[in-house]
Amino acid sequence: IAPVTVIGAGLAGTEAAWQIAQAGVDVILYEMRPQRLSPAHHTDQVAELVCSNSFGAMASNRAAGLLHQELRQLNSLIIGSADRHAVPAGGALAVDRGTFSQDLTQRLSQHPRIDFRREEVPQLPRDGITVLATGPLTSAALGEDLQRFTGQDYCSFFDAASPIVVGDSINREVAFLASRYDRGEAAYLNCPFDRDQYLHFWTALTSAEQAELKDFDRETAQFFEGCLPLEEQARRGEDTMRYGPLKPVGLFDARLGDFKDPVNKAKRPYAVAQLRQEDKAGQLWNLVGFQTNLRWGEQKRVFRLIPGLENAEFVRMGVMHRNTFINAPTLLNPSLQFHKQPTLLACGQLIGTEGYTAATAGGWLAGTNAARLALGLAPVTLPPTLMSGALFQFISSASPKHFQPMPPNFGILPPLPQRIRNKQDRYGAYRDRALDDLATWQRQIQGVAQGVTQA
Ligand code: FAD
Repeated sequence: IAPVTVIGAGLAGTEAAWQIAQAGVDVILYEMRPQRLSPAHHTDQVAELVCSNSFGAMASNRAAGLLHQELRQLNSLIIGSADRHAVPAGGALAVDRGTFSQDLTQRLSQHPRIDFRREEVPQLPRDGITVLATGPLTSAALGEDLQRFTGQDYCSFFDAASPIVVGDSINREVAFLASRYDRGEAAYLNCPFDRDQYLHFWTALTSAEQAELKDFDRETAQFFEGCLPLEEQARRGEDTMRYGPLKPVGLFDARLGDFKDPVNKAKRPYAVAQLRQEDKAGQLWNLVGFQTNLRWGEQKRVFRLIPGLENAEFVRMGVMHRNTFINAPTLLNPSLQFHKQPTLLACGQLIGTEGYTAATAGGWLAGTNAARLALGLAPVTLPPTLMSGALFQFISSASPKHFQPMPPNFGILPPLPQRIRNKQDRYGAYRDRALDDLATWQRQIQGVAQGVTQA
Protein backbone atom coordinates (compact mmCIF):
# COMPACT_ATOMS: atom_id res chain seq x y z
CA ILE A 1 0.00 0.00 0.00
CA ALA A 2 1.42 3.42 -0.98
CA PRO A 3 1.89 5.86 1.90
CA VAL A 4 -0.64 8.63 2.47
CA THR A 5 0.66 12.21 2.44
CA VAL A 6 -0.46 14.59 5.19
CA ILE A 7 0.42 18.28 4.77
CA GLY A 8 0.59 20.32 7.99
CA ALA A 9 1.19 19.04 11.54
CA GLY A 10 -1.23 21.34 13.33
CA LEU A 11 -4.20 20.09 15.29
CA ALA A 12 -5.96 18.54 12.31
CA GLY A 13 -2.86 17.12 10.60
CA THR A 14 -1.51 15.58 13.80
CA GLU A 15 -4.80 13.78 14.44
CA ALA A 16 -5.09 12.72 10.77
CA ALA A 17 -1.54 11.33 10.60
CA TRP A 18 -2.05 9.37 13.82
CA GLN A 19 -5.37 7.83 12.71
CA ILE A 20 -3.86 6.76 9.37
CA ALA A 21 -0.79 5.23 11.02
CA GLN A 22 -2.88 3.47 13.66
CA ALA A 23 -4.98 1.96 10.86
CA GLY A 24 -1.80 0.26 9.60
CA VAL A 25 -1.06 2.61 6.68
CA ASP A 26 2.26 4.44 6.24
CA VAL A 27 2.21 8.24 6.37
CA ILE A 28 4.54 10.94 5.09
CA LEU A 29 3.82 13.96 7.24
CA TYR A 30 5.09 17.37 6.06
CA GLU A 31 5.40 20.36 8.39
CA MET A 32 7.02 23.63 7.27
CA ARG A 33 8.02 24.78 10.77
CA PRO A 34 10.66 25.59 11.94
CA GLN A 35 12.10 26.40 8.45
CA ARG A 36 9.12 28.62 7.81
CA LEU A 37 7.08 29.96 10.72
CA SER A 38 3.54 31.20 10.21
CA PRO A 39 2.82 34.68 11.62
CA ALA A 40 0.99 33.17 14.64
CA HIS A 41 3.07 30.07 15.46
CA HIS A 42 6.06 30.41 17.79
CA THR A 43 7.55 26.89 18.09
CA ASP A 44 8.62 23.86 16.06
CA GLN A 45 6.24 21.55 17.94
CA VAL A 46 3.24 19.84 16.35
CA ALA A 47 -0.31 20.88 17.31
CA GLU A 48 0.80 24.25 18.61
CA LEU A 49 -2.08 26.22 20.11
CA VAL A 50 -1.81 29.63 18.48
CA CYS A 51 -3.82 31.60 21.02
CA SER A 52 -5.94 30.41 23.94
CA ASN A 53 -4.95 27.19 25.71
CA SER A 54 -8.58 26.13 26.03
CA PHE A 55 -10.51 23.53 24.04
CA GLY A 56 -13.78 24.93 25.42
CA ALA A 57 -16.34 23.81 28.00
CA MET A 58 -15.83 20.30 29.30
CA ALA A 59 -19.39 19.29 30.32
CA SER A 60 -20.82 16.88 27.77
CA ASN A 61 -24.11 18.81 27.65
CA ARG A 62 -22.21 21.77 26.21
CA ALA A 63 -21.37 21.88 22.50
CA ALA A 64 -17.57 21.71 22.84
CA GLY A 65 -17.83 19.15 25.65
CA LEU A 66 -20.00 16.88 23.52
CA LEU A 67 -17.43 17.08 20.74
CA HIS A 68 -14.67 16.19 23.25
CA GLN A 69 -16.71 13.21 24.37
CA GLU A 70 -17.29 12.00 20.81
CA LEU A 71 -13.59 12.31 20.11
CA ARG A 72 -12.71 10.37 23.27
CA GLN A 73 -15.04 7.61 22.11
CA LEU A 74 -13.25 7.70 18.73
CA ASN A 75 -9.82 7.39 20.38
CA SER A 76 -8.61 10.84 19.39
CA LEU A 77 -4.92 11.37 20.00
CA ILE A 78 -5.33 15.13 20.55
CA ILE A 79 -8.16 14.94 23.07
CA GLY A 80 -6.38 12.11 24.92
CA SER A 81 -3.32 14.32 25.18
CA ALA A 82 -5.43 17.32 26.23
CA ASP A 83 -6.87 15.23 29.08
CA ARG A 84 -3.39 14.22 30.20
CA HIS A 85 -2.04 17.78 30.13
CA ALA A 86 -5.09 19.56 31.53
CA VAL A 87 -4.71 22.55 33.84
CA PRO A 88 -7.46 23.89 36.13
CA ALA A 89 -9.85 26.08 34.11
CA GLY A 90 -13.19 26.08 35.95
CA GLY A 91 -15.20 23.76 33.73
CA ALA A 92 -13.16 24.19 30.54
CA LEU A 93 -10.68 21.74 29.03
CA ALA A 94 -7.50 23.84 29.06
CA VAL A 95 -3.97 22.45 28.72
CA ASP A 96 -0.37 23.22 29.48
CA ARG A 97 0.40 24.12 25.87
CA GLY A 98 4.12 23.33 26.20
CA THR A 99 3.90 19.77 27.54
CA PHE A 100 0.82 19.07 25.41
CA SER A 101 2.63 19.80 22.14
CA GLN A 102 5.95 18.23 23.25
CA ASP A 103 4.17 14.98 24.10
CA LEU A 104 2.41 14.92 20.70
CA THR A 105 5.64 15.75 18.84
CA GLN A 106 7.36 12.83 20.52
CA ARG A 107 4.52 10.43 19.77
CA LEU A 108 4.39 11.32 16.07
CA SER A 109 8.17 11.29 15.68
CA GLN A 110 8.45 7.86 17.30
CA HIS A 111 5.59 6.18 15.42
CA PRO A 112 7.08 3.50 13.13
CA ARG A 113 4.58 4.24 10.36
CA ILE A 114 5.10 8.03 10.32
CA ASP A 115 7.88 9.56 8.25
CA PHE A 116 7.97 13.12 9.62
CA ARG A 117 9.57 15.61 7.21
CA ARG A 118 10.22 19.23 8.12
CA GLU A 119 9.54 20.76 4.70
CA GLU A 120 7.13 23.22 3.14
CA VAL A 121 4.92 21.69 0.44
CA PRO A 122 4.50 24.39 -2.22
CA GLN A 123 2.00 22.52 -4.43
CA LEU A 124 -0.88 20.14 -3.94
CA PRO A 125 0.03 16.59 -4.96
CA ARG A 126 -2.16 15.66 -7.94
CA ASP A 127 -1.84 11.91 -7.37
CA GLY A 128 -1.80 9.54 -4.42
CA ILE A 129 -3.95 9.96 -1.33
CA THR A 130 -3.38 13.29 0.42
CA VAL A 131 -4.79 15.05 3.49
CA LEU A 132 -4.53 18.83 3.35
CA ALA A 133 -4.34 20.26 6.88
CA THR A 134 -2.40 23.49 6.48
CA GLY A 135 -4.74 25.61 8.57
CA PRO A 136 -5.79 29.24 8.51
CA LEU A 137 -2.22 30.39 7.82
CA THR A 138 -1.45 28.11 4.87
CA SER A 139 1.85 29.13 3.28
CA ALA A 140 1.62 31.57 0.37
CA ALA A 141 2.89 29.18 -2.33
CA LEU A 142 0.53 26.37 -1.42
CA GLY A 143 -2.28 28.89 -1.01
CA GLU A 144 -1.81 30.06 -4.59
CA ASP A 145 -1.83 26.51 -5.87
CA LEU A 146 -4.98 25.77 -3.87
CA GLN A 147 -6.57 28.80 -5.47
CA ARG A 148 -5.63 27.47 -8.92
CA PHE A 149 -6.95 24.00 -8.04
CA THR A 150 -10.30 25.23 -6.67
CA GLY A 151 -10.66 28.04 -9.20
CA GLN A 152 -11.82 30.24 -6.35
CA ASP A 153 -10.57 33.15 -4.33
CA TYR A 154 -10.07 32.46 -0.69
CA CYS A 155 -12.63 33.36 1.90
CA SER A 156 -10.95 35.02 4.82
CA PHE A 157 -11.49 37.07 7.93
CA PHE A 158 -9.31 38.40 10.69
CA ASP A 159 -8.52 36.42 13.78
CA ALA A 160 -6.59 37.65 16.77
CA ALA A 161 -4.70 36.18 19.73
CA SER A 162 -4.67 37.51 23.32
CA PRO A 163 -1.62 38.42 25.41
CA ILE A 164 -0.07 36.29 28.17
CA VAL A 165 1.39 37.71 31.40
CA VAL A 166 3.72 36.35 34.10
CA GLY A 167 1.85 35.13 37.19
CA ASP A 168 4.24 36.73 39.68
CA SER A 169 3.66 40.16 38.15
CA ILE A 170 -0.09 40.09 38.89
CA ASN A 171 -1.04 41.99 42.05
CA ARG A 172 -2.78 39.31 44.15
CA GLU A 173 -3.99 41.86 46.66
CA VAL A 174 -6.30 43.12 43.95
CA ALA A 175 -6.87 40.07 41.73
CA PHE A 176 -8.89 37.27 43.29
CA LEU A 177 -9.12 33.57 42.49
CA ALA A 178 -12.61 32.36 41.54
CA SER A 179 -14.61 30.60 38.87
CA ARG A 180 -17.87 32.11 37.64
CA TYR A 181 -20.81 31.06 39.85
CA ASP A 182 -18.31 29.08 41.93
CA ARG A 183 -18.36 26.40 39.22
CA GLY A 184 -15.60 23.81 39.71
CA GLU A 185 -12.47 24.76 41.61
CA ALA A 186 -11.50 28.45 41.75
CA ALA A 187 -9.45 28.57 38.58
CA TYR A 188 -9.36 32.10 37.17
CA LEU A 189 -7.58 35.18 38.44
CA ASN A 190 -10.11 37.99 38.32
CA CYS A 191 -9.26 41.68 38.12
CA PRO A 192 -12.21 43.76 39.38
CA PHE A 193 -12.99 47.25 38.05
CA ASP A 194 -15.13 49.90 39.74
CA ARG A 195 -17.08 52.18 37.40
CA ASP A 196 -14.45 54.93 37.18
CA GLN A 197 -11.65 52.45 36.52
CA TYR A 198 -13.73 50.78 33.82
CA LEU A 199 -14.54 54.05 32.04
CA HIS A 200 -10.91 55.11 32.17
CA PHE A 201 -9.89 51.76 30.65
CA TRP A 202 -12.64 51.91 28.01
CA THR A 203 -11.62 55.42 26.94
CA ALA A 204 -7.95 54.44 26.69
CA LEU A 205 -8.81 51.32 24.69
CA THR A 206 -11.01 53.08 22.16
CA SER A 207 -8.37 55.72 21.48
CA ALA A 208 -5.28 53.45 21.48
CA GLU A 209 -3.19 53.05 18.35
CA GLN A 210 -3.75 49.97 16.21
CA ALA A 211 -1.11 47.91 14.41
CA GLU A 212 -1.03 47.87 10.60
CA LEU A 213 -2.95 45.03 8.99
CA LYS A 214 -0.03 44.08 6.77
CA ASP A 215 -1.21 41.15 4.72
CA PHE A 216 -4.71 42.30 4.02
CA ASP A 217 -6.63 45.27 2.79
CA ARG A 218 -8.20 47.07 5.74
CA GLU A 219 -11.17 48.04 3.56
CA THR A 220 -12.13 44.41 3.03
CA ALA A 221 -11.24 43.28 6.55
CA GLN A 222 -13.96 41.17 8.05
CA PHE A 223 -14.08 40.20 11.67
CA PHE A 224 -15.49 36.90 12.79
CA GLU A 225 -18.13 37.74 15.40
CA GLY A 226 -16.93 34.93 17.66
CA CYS A 227 -13.46 36.45 18.15
CA LEU A 228 -13.70 40.21 17.74
CA PRO A 229 -10.65 42.18 18.89
CA LEU A 230 -11.31 43.78 22.25
CA GLU A 231 -10.87 47.31 20.92
CA GLU A 232 -13.47 46.58 18.22
CA GLN A 233 -15.91 45.47 20.91
CA ALA A 234 -15.13 48.60 22.93
CA ARG A 235 -15.88 50.79 19.91
CA ARG A 236 -19.34 49.23 19.64
CA GLY A 237 -20.41 50.86 22.90
CA GLU A 238 -19.47 51.70 26.46
CA ASP A 239 -21.08 48.57 27.88
CA THR A 240 -20.36 46.03 25.14
CA MET A 241 -17.32 44.60 26.97
CA ARG A 242 -19.34 44.32 30.21
CA TYR A 243 -21.64 41.89 28.37
CA GLY A 244 -18.69 40.11 26.81
CA PRO A 245 -15.19 39.35 28.12
CA LEU A 246 -15.45 41.82 31.03
CA LYS A 247 -18.74 40.41 32.28
CA PRO A 248 -18.85 40.70 36.08
CA VAL A 249 -21.78 38.36 36.84
CA GLY A 250 -21.14 35.40 39.11
CA LEU A 251 -17.69 36.66 40.14
CA PHE A 252 -17.10 37.86 43.64
CA ASP A 253 -14.06 38.24 45.85
CA ALA A 254 -14.58 35.82 48.78
CA ARG A 255 -12.23 38.01 50.85
CA LEU A 256 -14.98 40.65 50.94
CA GLY A 257 -17.49 38.34 52.64
CA ASP A 258 -20.33 36.07 51.54
CA PHE A 259 -21.59 37.38 48.20
CA LYS A 260 -25.00 35.76 48.67
CA ASP A 261 -25.50 38.14 51.60
CA PRO A 262 -27.45 41.18 50.24
CA VAL A 263 -25.33 43.48 52.45
CA ASN A 264 -22.37 42.70 50.23
CA LYS A 265 -24.22 43.40 46.99
CA ALA A 266 -22.69 46.87 46.71
CA LYS A 267 -19.22 45.33 46.68
CA ARG A 268 -19.85 43.50 43.41
CA PRO A 269 -17.39 44.63 40.73
CA TYR A 270 -18.62 46.77 37.82
CA ALA A 271 -16.57 44.75 35.35
CA VAL A 272 -14.02 41.91 35.64
CA ALA A 273 -11.05 40.97 33.46
CA GLN A 274 -10.25 37.26 33.79
CA LEU A 275 -6.93 35.48 33.42
CA ARG A 276 -6.73 31.75 32.80
CA GLN A 277 -3.80 29.59 33.88
CA GLU A 278 -1.58 28.59 30.97
CA ASP A 279 0.86 26.09 32.46
CA LYS A 280 0.74 23.48 35.22
CA ALA A 281 3.02 25.56 37.42
CA GLY A 282 0.78 28.65 37.15
CA GLN A 283 3.64 30.88 35.93
CA LEU A 284 1.77 32.13 32.88
CA TRP A 285 -1.72 33.59 32.62
CA ASN A 286 -3.76 34.33 29.50
CA LEU A 287 -6.03 37.39 29.36
CA VAL A 288 -9.30 35.70 28.44
CA GLY A 289 -11.06 37.26 25.45
CA PHE A 290 -8.42 39.98 25.06
CA GLN A 291 -7.61 39.21 21.46
CA THR A 292 -6.29 42.46 20.09
CA ASN A 293 -4.65 44.28 17.24
CA LEU A 294 -3.24 47.19 19.25
CA ARG A 295 0.41 48.12 18.80
CA TRP A 296 2.51 46.22 21.32
CA GLY A 297 3.50 49.35 23.26
CA GLU A 298 -0.14 50.36 23.42
CA GLN A 299 -1.16 46.92 24.69
CA LYS A 300 1.24 47.30 27.62
CA ARG A 301 0.08 50.85 28.37
CA VAL A 302 -3.65 50.13 28.15
CA PHE A 303 -3.76 46.66 29.73
CA ARG A 304 -1.73 47.90 32.70
CA LEU A 305 -4.74 50.12 33.49
CA ILE A 306 -6.55 46.94 34.54
CA PRO A 307 -6.68 46.81 38.35
CA GLY A 308 -4.15 44.19 39.48
CA LEU A 309 -2.10 44.39 36.26
CA GLU A 310 -0.38 47.72 37.00
CA ASN A 311 3.03 46.01 36.85
CA ALA A 312 2.14 43.13 34.55
CA GLU A 313 5.04 41.60 32.69
CA PHE A 314 3.99 40.45 29.22
CA VAL A 315 5.54 37.29 27.76
CA ARG A 316 3.47 37.29 24.60
CA MET A 317 1.61 40.16 23.03
CA GLY A 318 -1.71 39.90 21.22
CA VAL A 319 -1.47 39.62 17.44
CA MET A 320 -3.89 39.67 14.59
CA HIS A 321 -3.80 37.65 11.39
CA ARG A 322 -5.69 36.68 8.35
CA ASN A 323 -7.64 33.47 8.89
CA THR A 324 -8.25 31.67 5.64
CA PHE A 325 -10.79 29.03 4.69
CA ILE A 326 -12.07 27.51 1.46
CA ASN A 327 -15.66 27.60 0.27
CA ALA A 328 -16.31 24.07 1.48
CA PRO A 329 -20.00 23.89 0.44
CA THR A 330 -18.97 24.04 -3.22
CA LEU A 331 -15.84 21.91 -2.89
CA LEU A 332 -16.17 19.14 -0.29
CA ASN A 333 -18.54 16.36 0.58
CA PRO A 334 -19.24 15.38 4.22
CA SER A 335 -16.53 12.70 4.10
CA LEU A 336 -14.11 15.66 3.60
CA GLN A 337 -13.08 14.54 0.09
CA PHE A 338 -12.88 17.12 -2.71
CA HIS A 339 -15.61 16.49 -5.31
CA LYS A 340 -13.05 17.19 -7.99
CA GLN A 341 -10.35 14.84 -6.71
CA PRO A 342 -11.72 12.34 -4.16
CA THR A 343 -8.24 11.15 -3.20
CA LEU A 344 -7.57 14.65 -1.86
CA LEU A 345 -9.13 15.31 1.55
CA ALA A 346 -9.06 18.46 3.67
CA CYS A 347 -9.62 19.23 7.34
CA GLY A 348 -9.09 21.82 10.05
CA GLN A 349 -9.74 25.51 10.06
CA LEU A 350 -9.07 25.63 6.31
CA ILE A 351 -12.41 23.91 5.60
CA GLY A 352 -14.40 26.42 7.65
CA THR A 353 -14.90 24.65 10.93
CA GLU A 354 -13.96 26.94 13.81
CA GLY A 355 -11.70 26.15 16.75
CA TYR A 356 -9.23 23.63 18.08
CA THR A 357 -11.69 20.83 18.84
CA ALA A 358 -13.46 21.10 15.50
CA ALA A 359 -10.06 20.99 13.73
CA THR A 360 -9.26 17.83 15.68
CA ALA A 361 -12.56 16.23 14.67
CA GLY A 362 -11.84 17.05 11.00
CA GLY A 363 -8.40 15.52 11.34
CA TRP A 364 -9.95 12.37 12.74
CA LEU A 365 -12.42 12.00 9.87
CA ALA A 366 -10.05 12.94 7.04
CA GLY A 367 -7.37 10.63 8.48
CA THR A 368 -9.83 7.78 8.90
CA ASN A 369 -11.09 8.18 5.34
CA ALA A 370 -7.62 8.51 3.86
CA ALA A 371 -6.67 5.23 5.56
CA ARG A 372 -9.88 3.59 4.35
CA LEU A 373 -9.20 4.66 0.76
CA ALA A 374 -5.67 3.25 1.03
CA LEU A 375 -7.06 -0.03 2.38
CA GLY A 376 -9.68 -0.30 -0.37
CA LEU A 377 -12.61 0.51 1.94
CA ALA A 378 -15.38 3.01 1.17
CA PRO A 379 -15.00 6.37 2.95
CA VAL A 380 -17.47 7.08 5.73
CA THR A 381 -19.51 10.05 6.93
CA LEU A 382 -20.40 10.62 10.58
CA PRO A 383 -24.09 10.60 11.58
CA PRO A 384 -25.48 14.17 11.48
CA THR A 385 -26.89 13.72 15.00
CA LEU A 386 -23.30 13.88 16.30
CA MET A 387 -21.73 17.29 16.92
CA SER A 388 -18.87 16.24 14.64
CA GLY A 389 -21.19 14.81 11.97
CA ALA A 390 -23.38 17.93 12.07
CA LEU A 391 -20.35 20.17 11.56
CA PHE A 392 -19.22 18.31 8.45
CA GLN A 393 -22.76 18.14 7.16
CA PHE A 394 -23.01 21.90 7.67
CA ILE A 395 -19.78 22.91 5.96
CA SER A 396 -20.50 20.71 2.95
CA SER A 397 -24.08 21.88 2.43
CA ALA A 398 -24.34 25.47 3.76
CA SER A 399 -25.21 28.37 1.50
CA PRO A 400 -21.95 29.03 -0.41
CA LYS A 401 -22.71 32.74 -0.75
CA HIS A 402 -22.66 33.56 2.95
CA PHE A 403 -20.38 30.77 4.13
CA GLN A 404 -18.64 31.63 7.42
CA PRO A 405 -16.60 29.41 9.79
CA MET A 406 -18.81 27.41 12.12
CA PRO A 407 -17.91 26.43 15.69
CA PRO A 408 -19.56 23.46 17.42
CA ASN A 409 -23.07 24.45 18.57
CA PHE A 410 -26.42 22.79 19.19
CA GLY A 411 -28.14 24.85 16.49
CA ILE A 412 -26.66 22.70 13.71
CA LEU A 413 -28.00 19.40 15.10
CA PRO A 414 -31.23 17.96 13.66
CA PRO A 415 -34.17 18.66 16.04
CA LEU A 416 -35.06 16.09 18.68
CA PRO A 417 -38.21 14.02 18.05
CA GLN A 418 -39.79 15.49 21.19
CA ARG A 419 -39.92 19.10 22.37
CA ILE A 420 -37.92 19.71 25.58
CA ARG A 421 -38.36 23.19 27.03
CA ASN A 422 -35.62 23.14 29.67
CA LYS A 423 -32.35 24.00 27.94
CA GLN A 424 -30.12 21.82 30.09
CA ASP A 425 -32.43 18.82 29.60
CA ARG A 426 -32.58 19.51 25.87
CA TYR A 427 -28.79 19.63 25.55
CA GLY A 428 -28.57 16.48 27.66
CA ALA A 429 -30.97 14.75 25.24
CA TYR A 430 -28.86 15.88 22.25
CA ARG A 431 -25.83 14.43 24.04
CA ASP A 432 -27.49 11.10 24.80
CA ARG A 433 -28.71 10.73 21.22
CA ALA A 434 -25.29 11.64 19.79
CA LEU A 435 -23.33 9.22 21.97
CA ASP A 436 -25.82 6.37 21.34
CA ASP A 437 -25.73 6.98 17.59
CA LEU A 438 -21.95 7.09 17.66
CA ALA A 439 -21.76 3.73 19.46
CA THR A 440 -24.14 2.16 16.90
CA TRP A 441 -22.19 3.69 14.02
CA GLN A 442 -18.89 2.40 15.39
CA ARG A 443 -20.30 -1.14 15.60
CA GLN A 444 -21.53 -0.92 11.98
CA ILE A 445 -18.22 0.42 10.67
CA GLN A 446 -16.22 -2.21 12.49
CA GLY A 447 -18.54 -4.89 11.08
CA VAL A 448 -17.98 -3.62 7.52
CA ALA A 449 -14.22 -3.34 7.99
CA GLN A 450 -14.00 -6.88 9.35
CA GLY A 451 -16.17 -8.17 6.46
CA VAL A 452 -13.87 -6.59 3.87
CA THR A 453 -10.72 -7.80 5.61
CA GLN A 454 -12.07 -11.37 5.74
CA ALA A 455 -13.14 -11.20 2.09
P1 FAD B 1 -2.92 24.79 12.38
O1 FAD B 1 -3.00 24.35 13.79
O2 FAD B 1 -2.53 26.19 12.08
O3 FAD B 1 -1.95 23.79 11.61
C1 FAD B 1 -1.57 23.98 10.27
C2 FAD B 1 -0.12 23.54 10.14
O4 FAD B 1 0.24 23.51 8.77
C3 FAD B 1 0.83 24.52 10.81
O5 FAD B 1 1.66 23.80 11.69
C4 FAD B 1 1.60 25.14 9.65
O6 FAD B 1 2.94 25.46 10.00
C5 FAD B 1 1.55 24.03 8.61
N1 FAD B 1 1.67 24.49 7.20
C6 FAD B 1 1.07 25.54 6.59
N2 FAD B 1 1.38 25.57 5.29
C7 FAD B 1 2.21 24.52 5.04
C8 FAD B 1 2.88 24.02 3.88
N3 FAD B 1 2.74 24.58 2.68
N4 FAD B 1 3.69 22.93 4.00
C9 FAD B 1 3.83 22.31 5.22
N5 FAD B 1 3.24 22.74 6.35
C10 FAD B 1 2.42 23.83 6.27
N6 FAD B 1 -9.14 28.46 17.79
C11 FAD B 1 -9.47 28.20 19.08
O7 FAD B 1 -10.17 27.22 19.37
N7 FAD B 1 -9.05 29.02 20.08
C12 FAD B 1 -8.27 30.10 19.84
O8 FAD B 1 -7.89 30.80 20.76
C13 FAD B 1 -7.88 30.39 18.50
N8 FAD B 1 -7.11 31.47 18.22
C14 FAD B 1 -6.72 31.70 16.95
C15 FAD B 1 -5.87 32.78 16.69
C16 FAD B 1 -5.41 33.03 15.40
C17 FAD B 1 -4.50 34.19 15.14
C18 FAD B 1 -5.82 32.18 14.34
C19 FAD B 1 -5.33 32.41 12.94
C20 FAD B 1 -6.68 31.11 14.59
C21 FAD B 1 -7.15 30.85 15.88
N9 FAD B 1 -8.02 29.81 16.17
C22 FAD B 1 -8.37 29.53 17.47
C23 FAD B 1 -8.65 29.04 15.10
C24 FAD B 1 -8.14 27.61 14.81
O9 FAD B 1 -8.83 26.71 15.61
C25 FAD B 1 -6.70 27.39 15.01
O10 FAD B 1 -6.07 28.17 14.05
C26 FAD B 1 -6.28 25.90 14.86
O11 FAD B 1 -4.91 25.84 15.11
C27 FAD B 1 -6.62 25.29 13.53
O12 FAD B 1 -6.05 24.01 13.41
P2 FAD B 1 -5.47 23.51 12.02
O13 FAD B 1 -4.89 22.17 12.23
O14 FAD B 1 -6.50 23.68 10.97
O15 FAD B 1 -4.32 24.57 11.66
